[in-house]
Amino acid sequence: MTKVIALANQKGGVGKTTTALNLAAGLLRRDQKVLLIDLDPQSNATSGAGITKEEIVFNSYDVLISNRAVKSAIIHRADNFDILPSSTELAGAEIELTKKKDRQKILKRKIAKEKEKYDFVLIDNPPALGLLSLNSLMAADSVLIPVQAEYFALEGLAQLMKTINLVKEHGNSGLTIEGILMTMTTHTKISRQVVSEVEKHFSEDTYHVTIPRNVRLTEAPSFGQSIFDFAGFSSGARAYNKLVKEIISKNGEEQS
Ligand code: ADP
Ligand code: MG
Repeated sequence: MTKVIALANQKGGVGKTTTALNLAAGLLRRDQKVLLIDLDPQSNATSGAGITKEEIVFNSYDVLISNRAVKSAIIHRADNFDILPSSTELAGAEIELTKKKDRQKILKRKIAKEKEKYDFVLIDNPPALGLLSLNSLMAADSVLIPVQAEYFALEGLAQLMKTINLVKEHGNSGLTIEGILMTMTTHTKISRQVVSEVEKHFSEDTYHVTIPRNVRLTEAPSFGQSIFDFAGFSSGARAYNKLVKEIISKNGEEQS
């Protein structure tokens, strides 16, 4: 069974891409077959995975807007690791999608067959609740929500939950919350307060593991490496390793 997980939060800089990249890497280390889809025009997941512009033939824009086959755009990055890269062209997709019939379900349709080859499909999203994110929520089985441990975290989360509920009512009733992941936590009082508030409001859905602020996580992508290869003994690597374990055990239970 394939699990399609959308990483979403309309706020930028909360750790979506960092989580997508390191979750992908952690799943690979546990012999899972992974497809990473980059739906953010900023293409940070694409470059962070070590894909250069020269390697890209077609991208997620070509798939969504120009009706290219997913297969033609996928880059084989490593054993068991494929990537559907993004491009800056995708910035125009929000507007171009509005002209399309079935505009919210194009990604779902396009990956329907291809996804079966993988254990996990991870979709990295732009920092907005526009048509790109909607496409990924429609195509997903679950949403993983990275939340930065700082003021106003709950406000953004309420808005996102509303959108998720709308998606459930209008076309993807099976969508679940994979989990809420507190990121960039520190030992400050405010960080601890925000974590405990989110846990209070979303106790069922919040991961036990939190991702600490760790500079190694910022450095790794510029080398095209995951945190496990770049700094395997860092606090970031330990935390992401725990997250991967939580996700595998949760999904293993569901699937057996
Ligand atoms: P998003 O995809 O939600 O915009 P990113 O994953 O790109 O967020 O993270 C935003 C910035 O914060 C990046 O520079 C990234 O390297 C950094 N970052 C993410 N998570 C952490 C962390 N746990 N500790 C330190 N820096 C982090
Ligand atoms: Mg990002």
